[in-house]
Amino acid sequence: MVSYLKSLGIITSERVERAFLVIPREEFVPEEVRDQAYTDTPLPLMNTGQTISAPSMLAYMVEALDLESHHNVLEVGAGSGYGAAVMAEVINPSSSAGISHKIHAIEIDPRLVSFAKGNLQKCGCSDRVDIILGDGALGLPEESPFDRIMVSAAATSVPRPLTDQLADGGTMVIPVGGSSWSQELHLVRRSGTEITEEYMMDVIFVPLREGP
Ligand code: SAH
Repeated sequence: MVSYLKSLGIITSERVERAFLVIPREEFVPEEVRDQAYTDTPLPLMNTGQTISAPSMLAYMVEALDLESHHNVLEVGAGSGYGAAVMAEVINPSSSAGISHKIHAIEIDPRLVSFAKGNLQKCGCSDRVDIILGDGALGLPEESPFDRIMVSAAATSVPRPLTDQLADGGTMVIPVGGSSWSQELHLVRRSGTEITEEYMMDVIFVPLREGP
């Protein structure tokens, strides 16, 4: 799978390649679809109606975030915990001594919060990822500002709390659009008080639950 993603030019950095090789995707997918863990396709997350993103989509987003080890990182929509585990491995490789800080990953569905926590434990990543039950559209003010934010569900527009919680010089990748079968992946950057939003590609994500 990793050589395939490299051959497509989606995995371009050594750090992201290593993280994909180290984190076992089969530990994050439900038992019944385990045999498909290394095909490049989204997979259903039990009967929640949610999906674990295709590896190529995750790789594309992680490369675009250009993660560095000092970054404070937030994921909105932890799902299985796989995306957060991959990002944690990029910023805090399991081979290096000590853990500097954790990735924060918010998930709104309590069933997936327990699923993600169990998966992270199985793969030995639970000390590097904090899974929080809550509405990720509100961000996580107490842990902000964030150098990097990855939103793994599609918002109708970029939620204001997330741009407010982006650090100066920080970036966020987020699928944006109201349609359930086509949205746009955007790269949002903060520079001082200026926020810019750039189109990256057309994508399909499950919707971000917004509002009460
Ligand atoms: N990154 C995940 C896949 C995410 S699928 C993985 O690697 O497995 C999108 C997830 O976003 C779903 O689990 C869904 O429950 C969650 N979600 C939807 N709206 C949300 C919200 N407002 N806050 C937090 N999580 C949300």
